[in-house]
Amino acid sequence: KDDLANSDATLYASMQRELSRQQDQIELIASENIVSRAVLEAAGSVLTNKYAEGYPGRRYYGGCEFVDEVEEIAIDRAKQLFNCEEAVVQPHSGSQANQAVFMAVMKPGDTFLGMDLASGGHLTHGGAANQSGKWFNAISYGVREDDHLIDFEQVARLAEEHKPKVIIAGGSAYSRIIDFKKFREIADSVGAIFMVDMAHFAGLVAGGVYPNPLEHAHVVTTTTHKTLRGPRGGLVLTNDPALAKKIRSALFPGIQGGPLMHIVAAKAVAFGEALQPEFKAYARAVVDNAKALASSLTDAGYAVISGGTDSHLALIDLRPKSVKGNAAEASLERAGITCNKNGVPFDPEKFTVTSGLRIGSPAGTTRGFGVAEFREVGALMSEVLDALAAKGEPDAAAEQSAAAKVRALTSRFPIYT
Ligand code: PLP
Repeated sequence: KDDLANSDATLYASMQRELSRQQDQIELIASENIVSRAVLEAAGSVLTNKYAEGYPGRRYYGGCEFVDEVEEIAIDRAKQLFNCEEAVVQPHSGSQANQAVFMAVMKPGDTFLGMDLASGGHLTHGGAANQSGKWFNAISYGVREDDHLIDFEQVARLAEEHKPKVIIAGGSAYSRIIDFKKFREIADSVGAIFMVDMAHFAGLVAGGVYPNPLEHAHVVTTTTHKTLRGPRGGLVLTNDPALAKKIRSALFPGIQGGPLMHIVAAKAVAFGEALQPEFKAYARAVVDNAKALASSLTDAGYAVISGGTDSHLALIDLRPKSVKGNAAEASLERAGITCNKNGVPFDPEKFTVTSGLRIGSPAGTTRGFGVAEFREVGALMSEVLDALAAKGEPDAAAEQSAAAKVRALTSRFPIYT
């Protein structure tokens, strides 16, 4: 028998433990989701065997007839889903989608404007440790201190002052609807390309509960594995064929070799699922559930950055209870609730400590949690965090008591049975 359980029992055992962890824990990491068996099947398929450098109809290898079909299906579905003219489905990741756009429209040393990490931006939007920050002149805008919303006066001022080639909207911890029209006006005023990285909220756009950035952006990048509920990977969309051509060349042969055709197939499956009417209901529920979770935590005395959320995520400010993000993350993990510490805007703590937690509803919603369950999750979180705050150190009894309730809840909503 050459199946994994028999051929590599050690690795298989680790993978089984990860499956159990996903089944038994409540997943609140805003960038994660639970894909369908169909997506898993495509991602684990024989398409991993195929080299297909190039694009459909223009490959550098023989035998590409059927993977051409697969890539065409993925492209057509992506275009339909996001109502656009061009889709590039080969980026291995969200980072590589962004890198491909940068390479297509900028040269090293060029200036671009993106949201800073501390305000909820992403590393690839100019983080000092990232290639985007090392090889380009990255200028950052942020949020206002009083309401935590994007500071458009600052965006306009920085654009005027630095004349960036590209202005990026989108991030990893910004929970509000972004005014794409306003960004485009600023970009037009200085002749910049307006790029939206919708990695976090792509599924909400697909489900019609978040504005489609393609109405205003020159180019849109995304991951496929967050709210969009596909395999890990990236995607670039645009309505400009000349720009699409440059991006395809920047991707291959610019920064990637052969595409991961099994992942392209899994993306096609996910796009097909997102085109179904059920996905609209899913996207709506994701937002309702995130609001319910955030409000149950504000009811318990925690603060929510910007006062709430319009999307799948919320940033919780733990300072009202004098709890640190790293301690909160660890205590919740022992209780079976997975989320991540996150800096809040103008955070006085180091990024390894932080004053906040980022929480998200996409994975819980996929397993069937509704508003009632998310309120229950909020109550369990405050049980654990209040105990941590009261003791000034982890409270094992509170963690264990919450863990038992977590197991009861997850067993009512099983996954991958
Ligand atoms: N862009 C944004 C806004 C993200 O949140 C992320 C991932 O967290 C990425 C890009 C990078 O995606 P990947 O991890 O696939 O490289």
